Amino acid sequence: MQYENTLDFAQNLDRQDALRHYRERFVFPKHPHDSDNDVLYFCGNSLGLQPGSVRQALLDELDQWATHGVEGHFRGKMPWMHYHKFLTPQSARLVGALPHEVVVMNTLTVNLHLMMVSFYRPTPGRFKIIMEAGAFPSDQYAMETQVRWHGYDPKDAIVELAPRPGEDTLRTADILRVIGEEGPQAALVMLGGVNYYTGQLYDMEKIAAAAHNAGACAGFDLAHAAGNVPLDLHRWNADFAVWCSYKYLNSGPGGPSGVFVHERHGNNPGLPRFAGWWGHDESERFEMKKGFKPMRGAEGWQLSNAQIFSFAAHKASLDIFDEAGIPALRAKSEHLTGFLEFVLEASRHKDGLFRIITPRNPAERGCQLSLLTDGRGKALFDFLSEHGAIADWREPNVIRFAPVPLYNSFEDIWRLGALLESFGK
Ligand SMILES: *Cc1c(COP(=O)(O)O)cnc(C)c1O
Repeated sequence: MQYENTLDFAQNLDRQDALRHYRERFVFPKHPHDSDNDVLYFCGNSLGLQPGSVRQALLDELDQWATHGVEGHFRGKMPWMHYHKFLTPQSARLVGALPHEVVVMNTLTVNLHLMMVSFYRPTPGRFKIIMEAGAFPSDQYAMETQVRWHGYDPKDAIVELAPRPGEDTLRTADILRVIGEEGPQAALVMLGGVNYYTGQLYDMEKIAAAAHNAGACAGFDLAHAAGNVPLDLHRWNADFAVWCSYKYLNSGPGGPSGVFVHERHGNNPGLPRFAGWWGHDESERFEMKKGFKPMRGAEGWQLSNAQIFSFAAHKASLDIFDEAGIPALRAKSEHLTGFLEFVLEASRHKDGLFRIITPRNPAERGCQLSLLTDGRGKALFDFLSEHGAIADWREPNVIRFAPVPLYNSFEDIWRLGALLESFGK
């Protein structure tokens, strides 16, 4: 499509957008100096906006508690005892899994550790983890401490995939080559789905196949992928995956995490794990007997009973995703990001203020574009915040913009471009 950097053109795209009404179902913060207007929000990759329906969903659970007390576990529309199950079908559709391959529980880093207990089981001949250089810090710390806990030195055990000198992102061929070379000594290949810093979307199907070829497990951290790009975890044959719900999934600060365990593992009760009562066979969970007997499927990794309030917010948000559908959201997302790319370059292309480091190919990115800025980067970021455009800043010099298809418009993007043009002028 031939884009134009004009308000008319952007508004025309909005009129043709079949998803435009979803925007009204989200609550936008107000502009810091102009309470009649909303901010321009481009931070759905960090904390998604609040769906208006979340407030009622939380009130419903407060009422359930007030009305039934402990009996709320068994009564009402969504008895707490089974609450995690109410989130399963939608979560499965979101990540391309069979329902018994997913469960919502805990938070992301906790689940990453729980999965590594089962899927990182190093031996002296096969103890390495292949991961991205510069992965999200929590993932780095999880890998490093798991390696140490098993008695290995991260210097020997962690193999980092880095872009070639002078390049910003990884080439798939390089990822596959390293897996081929190091794989025979690797216990686990663990990558993000979408890299949080560069916005690069990895070819998870090929990565999982290469890992398996080498005899290693393949796990994915989908924090920046879930709700952002189409996922097909079962077919891709990932061993496990984890994601959070507060970024693209709009389920509120500290929202719960989702977990995928492929059915070939989920139905193996002998697989080692750290257990709790909520993962125990539910037909006898309350008999309080000795001897852990896991539920079949991902549910067998649960530890605790559900955090109802955060699950309720997550459910309200998943309802919206299910209604809009990932294919339609992805189609709009590619369009929005393409327009953002065009507007960014049209507004500041020539003066070296920034360079986009996210891949140009829509198939290799989600909605986020990352801008590597020059010495004026922090000033630019502060200028945008001051003028009501919310993006995020990642040290040392990256600004990330994530236009999300549920609530961002083409006009938002045009307005951002106009602000960029006025910076420093
Ligand atoms: C956001 C994010 C996290 C955050 O982990 P929490 O346990 O939810 O605090 C971890 N890893 C990645 C890749 C992330 O993007």
